Amino acid sequence: MTKLKDIKISVFGDTDQISSERYFLTVTTLVAAIFLMFLCVVHLLMGLKLTPVYLAGSSSLVMIGLYYFVRFRTCLYIPKAILTGLGLIMLDLSWYSKFLSNGPVLFFILIFAALVIWVWDGKFLLILLAYYFVNLAILFYIDYNAPLYMFEYPDPKSRSVDIFLSFFFYSVLLISLLYAVKREFMRQKSKAIKSDQLKTAFLANMSHEIRTPMNGILGFSELLRDPNLNAQQRLDYIETIETSGHRLLGIINDIIDISKIESGFMKTQSEITDLKEIIEYLYCFFKPEAESKGLQLIISNKLSEHCNRTITDKEKLNAIFTNLVKNAIKFTEKGTIQIGCDLIKIKKKPFLRFFVRDTGIGIPKTSQVEIFKRFIQVDVLNKMAYHGSGLGLAITKAYVEMLGGEIWVESEEEQGSVFYFTIPYFAETSDIVDKNGVNSSFENETEVPKLKILVAEDDEKSALLVTILVRKFASETLIARSGIEAVEFCRRINDIDLVLMDLQMPEMDGYEATKQIRQFNENITIIAQTAFAFSSDKDKVLSSGFDDYISKPLNAIELQKLIKKHFILVK
Ligand code: ADP
Repeated sequence: MTKLKDIKISVFGDTDQISSERYFLTVTTLVAAIFLMFLCVVHLLMGLKLTPVYLAGSSSLVMIGLYYFVRFRTCLYIPKAILTGLGLIMLDLSWYSKFLSNGPVLFFILIFAALVIWVWDGKFLLILLAYYFVNLAILFYIDYNAPLYMFEYPDPKSRSVDIFLSFFFYSVLLISLLYAVKREFMRQKSKAIKSDQLKTAFLANMSHEIRTPMNGILGFSELLRDPNLNAQQRLDYIETIETSGHRLLGIINDIIDISKIESGFMKTQSEITDLKEIIEYLYCFFKPEAESKGLQLIISNKLSEHCNRTITDKEKLNAIFTNLVKNAIKFTEKGTIQIGCDLIKIKKKPFLRFFVRDTGIGIPKTSQVEIFKRFIQVDVLNKMAYHGSGLGLAITKAYVEMLGGEIWVESEEEQGSVFYFTIPYFAETSDIVDKNGVNSSFENETEVPKLKILVAEDDEKSALLVTILVRKFASETLIARSGIEAVEFCRRINDIDLVLMDLQMPEMDGYEATKQIRQFNENITIIAQTAFAFSSDKDKVLSSGFDDYISKPLNAIELQKLIKKHFILVK
């Protein structure tokens, strides 16, 4: 059973993770490919006309290509347009050519209507539907005036085969479409119910998490008024007020962070980061707290000296680590907490893998994925009286993904947990040395043309980093601090080859700037620099006039590949 599910997921993708539009297109293209191939074979075997054989065969191949595109590539716009175009051609061909069959007509009417309604919106949908009904009217007109023009069966048997074969296919198509709609509806419904339950649990938890420190602050402030308190009591009360204040601030910060992440406003700022320094700082910061609970905090740093520095967002890395160590201390009553990192390879690329290991209460297998979602806590009813908003790991996961890595946990109940996370390892300059000590990133340097590059980036440090990374390809690098400046630069200087456009900038964002540049310059290559918060952002970027995108933090090798792709292979 599990195997069948795995096969289904690898063929169609995971319904929970990919958008319903992508899922629909994946299923449609694959089913259409199989159906058309079948049609082609049937026509061949029955020795019927050759036109439908060629048409069905080549359309099936196109469908297989489209299937690959929608399943494995990010851009949906092109396959959607091709599919609709093909649908229109098929619709007309099957209506106006004498295929001796009613079958394809109804089939394409159905599939085209389903496709158009599912994937298009707004004006375009109206235009397509108008086209569709005009065709229908013309078809009726022709058939009404010349009933034998469209379909003419050579004998009653072929009429019977045609009608019942068609019935069979429409039934299958209709049933699968209705089933897909029903499933999508049920999925959205259960998502809504779950989110409602989550909201209630969140409100209850938040009310508790906010009221408790507020009670501490207000209650002890009141007690401080008592003139008979001695100095020690006064100090103790002030300390309690301070602790409660910090706890409240932590919750407020979490709420602000998660809203920034969800609205896509959280940015990363890459800089040279000393990993040893981060780990040692954490050690010094958390040692007193761990020791006050009788826990031992240990550093296990397996990094070799030359890997101790990388380019990443230091603040985010610190926040990730802090959240994990804070949780480890919170959920461990006795034993040790170990922190460290090592250098590994994932798909031949170097990654830093960090870990935080504790000997605490552990996490049940069923919750090990869920806890990374917002507001999810293993002990929802707070029987164990642990403080927390349930946001820490959701923020941590978002940060790790923004830095280009992954996070996961391995845990046994009552034994402890190990949280792992990875981030790509970048050498601190753009010259990356491979394991043989050979400078590999710019081995084909002679092939790279010298370009005039505009870096549109409001953050000073990030702009500096991009400038360093593109140094090898640049005859000149210009820096624009806002979208408006970027547009101005492109208007004034018409030999700029490449724009590396940040998406979030003050005054005018990267999308608007690109739109305006495209109005007067179609040829300039514009690459979006983005810290994708949502997968739909990728589609948005590619359909907004950008030629390509690169994820932040920028990777020297990825950037080089992109530049080669656009300036050597294409131009
Ligand atoms: P919270 O504010 O509740 O700690 P988090 O998002 O940081 O929110 O964690 C979510 C849940 O994951 C926690 O409530 C706890 O149930 C579980 N959890 C996180 N870290 C650990 C750990 N080191 N050991 C055991 N459980 C953990």
